[in-house]
Order: sequence, then C-alpha cells, then structure tokens
Amino acid sequence: MIKEEHFCNKCILPDGFLGIHLNSDHLCNICADPTYKTINYSRTKISPERRTEAFNDWNAVVKDMQKNHRRRNYDCILGYSGGKDSTALLDHLVNELGLTALAVTSDTGFMTDIAKDNMKDTLKQIQVDHILIEDSISTFTKLYKYHFLHHNSNEAFLARYICDYCSDLIHSIVVKEAIRRDIPYVLFGYSPDQTFRYFYEMPQEEVMKKWKPDLLDSPFFDDNDAKWYLNDEEIEGGNLPRVLLPYHVISYREQEIIELVESKSYIKKGHADPLLTNCNVVHAATFYDFNRYGGILYAYQYAELVRLNPESRKKWLRTLKMSAPLILENNFKRREVNNFLEQIDVTQEEMLEHIEKQLSEDPNRESIKQNIEMFRKRKRKQAISVI
Ligand SMILES: [Zn+2]
Repeated sequence: MIKEEHFCNKCILPDGFLGIHLNSDHLCNICADPTYKTINYSRTKISPERRTEAFNDWNAVVKDMQKNHRRRNYDCILGYSGGKDSTALLDHLVNELGLTALAVTSDTGFMTDIAKDNMKDTLKQIQVDHILIEDSISTFTKLYKYHFLHHNSNEAFLARYICDYCSDLIHSIVVKEAIRRDIPYVLFGYSPDQTFRYFYEMPQEEVMKKWKPDLLDSPFFDDNDAKWYLNDEEIEGGNLPRVLLPYHVISYREQEIIELVESKSYIKKGHADPLLTNCNVVHAATFYDFNRYGGILYAYQYAELVRLNPESRKKWLRTLKMSAPLILENNFKRREVNNFLEQIDVTQEEMLEHIEKQLSEDPNRESIKQNIEMFRKRKRKQAISVI
C-alpha cells in the first residue's frame, strides 16, 4: 500500500530511495539540506562570473574561427546527432557565423529512423561535409552488454553511468576525427540544462585521462574496441582540440529552436520532440534500476521540479505512482526495451538474475524490497478491483 508518509513532505522522494532518508519532519536529505550530494544527484550552480567568462571565451573562439576561416579546410567539427539541438547549432554555425563545419555522427547502433531522416532533410539544405561512423557500433553494443550484466554498485543507478560511458565513447570518436584532421575546435549541442558533468567546456585533462574506461582491460573487450578511444600518441601529440558546448552560453530557447528547425524544413513537423529521439538504452536502464534499487534516476529531477514549483507536487507524485508499476513490470516502453535487450543479446531473465544476485548482497535490500513491493502492490490491488 502506498502511504503518504512514506514520501518527503516537500518533494516526492520516497524514504529509502538511493541515498535518501526522511528525517523526523518527514523531509528528505535534499529538501533538508540544499547542499546535499549523492553520487547520483547534485545541483550544479554556475556563478554569473563563470557564465560571463565562458560567454566571452565563446566570442573569442568565434573570432578566431572566422579569422582563420580561409586557412583551414574546416573551422570546427560538430558532433551531429540529428536531434533538434545539434541541427539548430549547425544552422547557426554555417548560416549565421559563416563557418565551415564538418558534421560527424557516431552511430551507437540505436539511432532512430527519425534522427536519420532529420539528417537527410537537413543536409539537403545545409551544404556541409558529413561523416557517419558506423564501424564502432559493435563496441557500443559490447559496452551496453557489459554494463547490463556487470553493473555492480549499491549506490549508483545504472542509468547514472550508462550515459556517461556511452557519451565518453561518442566524444572520443568525434575528438579523434578532429585530431586526425588538425581541427582546433569540437562542438556539441548540449542544452543549457545539461550541465551535470560539464559547463561550456570539457576540460582537456578529462578528455585525455577520464574518457577511456578501465573496463577496457577486461577480456570482454579487445583492441578493436580500444581503438575508438584516444591513444597515447594522440594524447601526447599536443594537438588536442578544445571541446566546447556553445548552448551553455549563447541564447537557447527550446520553442524557438523547434520553430527554426521546422520552419526551415530541417526536421518534419512534430519530429523535433525529444521524446521521439530519446534513447532506448535509457529506457532499458530505467527498467533495470527500478527492479534493482526500487527507484529511478529521473525521480531526482522530478523532485527538483517540485521544489521549484510546490504546486506541481500532486501531479508529479501521481506520475510517479502511475508509472512505477509499469516500469517495474516492463510495461513502459516495452517494445523498445525488448528490442534493445535483443540487440545487445541479453535476455530479460539473465538481466533479472543478475539484479537478484546483486540485490541479495545489498545491505539495504530490505528497504529496497519494501519500496518495490509498495509500488507493485498498488497494481495488484487495481487488478483485483477490476476483476
Ligand atoms: Zn524532499
């Protein structure tokens, strides 16, 4: 039975959620202490000074690209996904700043048909060179498979890491293209709310040292996988591009971006919806996480939305209660999740078996199981009342 007192009075996080416990006032750690951090969630605050500094830097970078425009084949590389943000950034670079960009797409094996259509439509109208890298798909597949069968943490959601590992690989592939062609800037169209790891620039220290994961040493992987990450020669060659996220500092309004890409027919009407290009890897990780931890990564974000707008608490709590049993039973995005598991060659039973083993060794297993049962029981009760 879902009891109201099981949830934080102010947001919607339940007691026993990863890293979260309610105090005697029924407040969760984050509501009680705004500086509270967990491995899964922390607020990123960017000071106005840092913002201004980054904005000035971007203007200097644009000047530098324009000044050297004729001396280089390409002024910059754009990591191009076919989504609305990278599409709009491509338009900005080419049509507003007059730059020559090389668009580079790294296919993870899970690119949607909509994203591919978007690219075709856009590249008919924006004359830029485009590289589509598909040979790395098998490495992405292995990377996902490894994590779904080996994720081993009592503290961190699978969804917390899977995106990092996947984007580190995408970023590496794009940066390698820049090094190969001696292109000084690599740009990605991350939106202003995507600042969990990086604000405006991915530091070179991280590009060099953090992106290549230790797990590549596992016999699960081989040289064919390692080759997509930066090698010592590239790291020591002194030829690393700067990796920048312009939308963190220049004007970004989601509605304007949608209108722009639709009005210029880069993206068909309705196809700019991020839900359509959303990643199936994340849907599958969410299914994993709910069964393993009794919660999902997104709940931290919903909870933050509630803190910003207390009136929305009821709505988000209802969303959580309604979606939880669906996610638990793999009835939410079922087809996408099943397709994903099939493509990485992992059966649902194998995955659940791994989860069961991990859960049985987790010191918090009792409260996790309680949360899972709480959300599951509601479904049973409904089923009975229907009968
Ligand atoms: Zn709270």
